[in-house]
Amino acid sequence: MNNKQVTNHCGVCDKPKDDGIYLYQLFICSECEKDIVTTEPDDAAYSVYVKKLRAINQSTFTI
Ligand SMILES: [Zn+2]
Repeated sequence: MNNKQVTNHCGVCDKPKDDGIYLYQLFICSECEKDIVTTEPDDAAYSVYVKKLRAINQSTFTI
């Protein structure tokens, strides 16, 4: 078992990625992380991210 293949699944773009961070239980790839950081609050994409992050918050409350 030398196959060191750790592929995380990004919860924002829904793609398998290796680089990224874990925010609560949600893996966010480095690309999406960059997107979130650079997205303006009045951007349409921003509300999508906020919705996703809010969903994680709610799921952590039930644990
Ligand atoms: Zn992503």
